[in-house]
Amino acid sequence: MGFSLMIHGGAGTIRDPQRYEASLRAIVTSGANLLAAGSSALDAVVHCVALLEDDPLYNAGRGSVLNAEGAALCDASIMDGRTLKAGAVAAVRGVRNPVRLAYEVMEKSGQALLVGEGAERFARERHLAFESEDYFRTRERVDQLTKAKRKRETALDHSESDDTIFGTVGAVARDASSDLAAATSTGGVVNQPVGRVGDSPIIGAGTFADNASCAVSCTGVGEDFIRTALARTASFFVEFRGMQAEEAAREAIRYLVDKVDGQGGLILVDRQGRCGRAHSTPGMLTATFVNGGIQVETT
Ligand code: ASP
Repeated sequence: MGFSLMIHGGAGTIRDPQRYEASLRAIVTSGANLLAAGSSALDAVVHCVALLEDDPLYNAGRGSVLNAEGAALCDASIMDGRTLKAGAVAAVRGVRNPVRLAYEVMEKSGQALLVGEGAERFARERHLAFESEDYFRTRERVDQLTKAKRKRETALDHSESDDTIFGTVGAVARDASSDLAAATSTGGVVNQPVGRVGDSPIIGAGTFADNASCAVSCTGVGEDFIRTALARTASFFVEFRGMQAEEAAREAIRYLVDKVDGQGGLILVDRQGRCGRAHSTPGMLTATFVNGGIQVETT
């Protein structure tokens, strides 16, 4: 089997699915072209997640949801299934592509997770691009925060009670050499308290990759995914229970619901290049490139 690639744009109640379809298709196509030209799974997931971050439709990078103080603070992580190297950043401000910073942390810092000012300082040292606050804060996000504050709630981007339409992003890939990689990026949840960090930058919760099993990227209520170590749990099902991609994705979400009544979804590619997706929310935005064909799904 050749290469496979799957991306997601968040889970929840997707009110206007057609709004995302062209973007998801274009981004998965661009990633698939890279893989076809011989790029690694790692490069493909960075590329796709950076494109998703640049698109204000999604809750990552530009267009991230705003916290209780009206700031867009970003979290991201990446894992290399070949080496089990991982890098992550949390609560970073101003870095245009948090996933590129996570990659730099993995490759150049000697650490696995950097937060806040220290992560930003490291981004400067690595000459990553910065943007002004206005670049990240879109009109829709300001309105979304105002509404959440009025209702005194913290909410998932695609929550039932919310009619705005954006989401956390991620990508999983298997390249032509059968190496796996996963990456995830988010602005967190709407109106989150200062200092709150969800699952997206936590290896084993929001992101996991191991050539011995699969690559996983999650989205949903971060606390539920942290408490169940869900990305690692899904990979455990592949590695030690012999499940195929679709079954492992389904079983992991069943586990999330059984254990903590969790809300969210995940994407997964296994070492044979098979892809799986599952969610406990009404919908999830995904695009898959497998066996030469593209499939975009919004439910
Ligand atoms: N998992 C993210 C968090 O809890 C939110 C999301 O997936 O939309 O920070």
